Amino acid sequence: MAQPHILILGAPGAGKGTQSANIAEEFGVEHVTTGDALRANKEMDISDMDTEYDTPAEYMDQGELVPDEVVNAIVDEALSQANGYVLDGYPRNLEQAEELAEMTDLDVVLYLDVSEEELVHRLTGRRLDPETGDIYHVEYNPPEDPEVEGRLEQREDDTEETVTERLRVYRENTEPVVEHYDDEGVLERIDGDQAPEEVWEDVKETIEDSV
Ligand code: AMP
Repeated sequence: MAQPHILILGAPGAGKGTQSANIAEEFGVEHVTTGDALRANKEMDISDMDTEYDTPAEYMDQGELVPDEVVNAIVDEALSQANGYVLDGYPRNLEQAEELAEMTDLDVVLYLDVSEEELVHRLTGRRLDPETGDIYHVEYNPPEDPEVEGRLEQREDDTEETVTERLRVYRENTEPVVEHYDDEGVLERIDGDQAPEEVWEDVKETIEDSV
């Protein structure tokens, strides 16, 4: 059987990155994430694309969406090279969802449903180990090693002000994408308020039942 094509939807802080890493390992698919791809190319010159700003960083640091043209190209390239994937962070608006439908078919569409209060708490407490890329949380999951604790960093867009804007952008642009897949009858809703291990049990079972 061909490797599955999995889409994971959810607000910023819903746990898409954590669950995508589990999915990639368990099902042997590639983790395609526009957020990571853009962070790795934050200073890329996009001025020839007729965009408002000249680099992705200027959009990202304000919590705004990077223009579709830039993101669509990243996803098209990544999906064409992947033998099975879990797509995380895309589509973020209906135009991107239309583009995606042109690029590929989907076997499973997961939606991690998390309350707004919990999202804010998760995002503002999130910390990153710049050496390993591991993600921690000041309250839910602090590192045991004081050396690791000492080098943790906060993502530039995880400050309270930018988080509020990212959630506003999500509600305005991405909630219609969730509704779109729901209307198509393909959305698999997962209770994302649970602990990561419990969410993973539900995610794994849903994928196994769908492919
Ligand atoms: P994330 O790591 O998924 O939270 O993404 C971080 C930031 O990257 C977002 O706030 C956007 O500025 C940008 N970004 C990621 N994915 C997309 C996308 N599909 N469309 C537009 N901008 C995106």
